[in-house]
Amino acid sequence: MRPLIALIPLLALFAVACSDKSEGAPAETAAPVTSPTVSDSSADRPGVTPATGGGPTGSATGPAEHDGQRALAHVVELSKEPRVSGTPAEARAATYIADQFRSSGYIVEVMEFEFEGDRFRAGEVTFDGQTIEALTLAGSPGGKVSAPAVFVGLADGEGIAGRDLTGKMAVAERGVLNFGVKYENVRVAGAVGLVVVNNRPGSFSGNLATGARIPVVAVSQEDGAAVVEAAKAGREIGLEAPPTVGLTKALNVIAKPAAGSRCAILVGGHFDTVPSAPGANDNASGTANVIELARALAVDGLDEGVCFGAFGAEESGL
Ligand SMILES: [Zn+2]
Repeated sequence: MRPLIALIPLLALFAVACSDKSEGAPAETAAPVTSPTVSDSSADRPGVTPATGGGPTGSATGPAEHDGQRALAHVVELSKEPRVSGTPAEARAATYIADQFRSSGYIVEVMEFEFEGDRFRAGEVTFDGQTIEALTLAGSPGGKVSAPAVFVGLADGEGIAGRDLTGKMAVAERGVLNFGVKYENVRVAGAVGLVVVNNRPGSFSGNLATGARIPVVAVSQEDGAAVVEAAKAGREIGLEAPPTVGLTKALNVIAKPAAGSRCAILVGGHFDTVPSAPGANDNASGTANVIELARALAVDGLDEGVCFGAFGAEESGL
């Protein structure tokens, strides 16, 4: 058990921060998750390793301590493609991770679970004869609306300034208020849709409370500047949000020293990514170190009660 002491400071590192949660937090729908099942059904999905599938296929070799080069090799392997929950790429990554754990002698369970997975719904915004990409906020209904736009600042009282937004498209800046509050403020004022413009480079997604009644999409800061200009001029802006997707499936990969072990310590990190990014840092790096620690700790025998996990759907809102 000696190496476990050294493990503790490392644990904090693996919980790689996904910094985009704060604004959505109060309104963040605690995405309903069905009870995880150890999935024989995962075999139904192409590329998914069936659940426990018998005993380990190897035993750990190499130094009995963490080896950065070995961890780096896992980062390189995992970050060849984005690993969005519910995609074949996620299943490929889960298979890779499961194989690594098994080769170190662990019993591996690939657990499939369902969650409300619409955080990465594409959408679009149309104005001045051009169409730009958007992301539909989780909890937004689908829909297609077009209306004269009003720029409402942060969508707070000052930004809305008592205006009647009936029949209008609201355009707001991201920041200060969480998305659910921005949504509610413009909806109460009568808006038919809301476009939230990022306040830093790139695009983003976030969560509304469930039951939102007007569509809400997010656009990047780069594209959003022109959207804000169009709104300030009161020009027509259209938005389109696709229908909700309902439940999405995702995978957890759990390595245990023996079948049925109780996990007194669970060393884990998420392995899924946002779309379009191979996620070498967030969070192949954490996953790779979980795999490597599992190997290093197994070299002189598996530790009772010490389990390792790679989790899905973190970036999708869990
Ligand atoms: Zn992350």
